[in-house]
Amino acid sequence: MLARKTMGAAACAPSKYLIVITGPSGCGKSTLLNKLFESYPERFGFSVSHTTRSPRQGEQDGVHYHFSQRSKMQQLIEDGAFLEHAEFGSNLYGTSKLAVTNVCDKGQICILDIELQGVLQVKKVGVEMSPVFVYIKPPSFSTLEQRLRDRNTENKDSLEKRLSQAKKDMEYIAQHPDLFNYTIVNDNLDTAYSELQTALKPFVESN
Ligand code: ADP
Ligand code: 5GP
Repeated sequence: MLARKTMGAAACAPSKYLIVITGPSGCGKSTLLNKLFESYPERFGFSVSHTTRSPRQGEQDGVHYHFSQRSKMQQLIEDGAFLEHAEFGSNLYGTSKLAVTNVCDKGQICILDIELQGVLQVKKVGVEMSPVFVYIKPPSFSTLEQRLRDRNTENKDSLEKRLSQAKKDMEYIAQHPDLFNYTIVNDNLDTAYSELQTALKPFVESN
């Protein structure tokens, strides 16, 4: 399936663009984004979120996430330091305003990898950054489950929570398809990546 374009967005200063990638846990967001950052290291910058979950093997503090204590993160939320935040699978996640500013200050287009509650918040508060919303859709729920299991990062409890959240979010999104500028089905990885590149072409080519 081709990426579905429902709205253009190529009229703002590139450094002010916000690209918001979402999709259920295990759909392939990180995999696709890693390819994008490899291909365009100067162009796009990753917004490093805060989270209260523990680091996975290979994850570095300040690179993949700012790994935080809940009390500290809650204080920052109360202080208004976050553009958006959400509770996901018993952990807090959030995009600090500073994380976005750090990317924009480098003249890069800022990419957020966030879950659905965060998307709905950015829809309300991030308008001046002309956000572009991309939904990475798994080919099926059973494929999603298999990928999440095979990734081997979750215990029984967190796997169940992620799958149950995925089911709810996928149902919500099916009823609200216009939330997204682009929907990309991540079945074959190369095809999905090519569709992502096509969707982001205006940002790659802009000066
Ligand atoms: P997310 O960041 O959305 O949680 P990941 O990028 O971690 O998802 O992908 C979940 C798992 O699925 C990873 O093990 C990844 O290697 C695998 N994966 C991603 N895309 C594909 C694909 N198109 N085909 C097969 N496996 C994939
Ligand atoms: P993971 O624990 O697998 O890294 O991430 C779990 C979910 O949290 C993913 O869907 C990811 O997109 C989302 N996520 C990561 N950072 C943020 C954030 O800053 N805000 C929100 N709302 N979700 C986030």
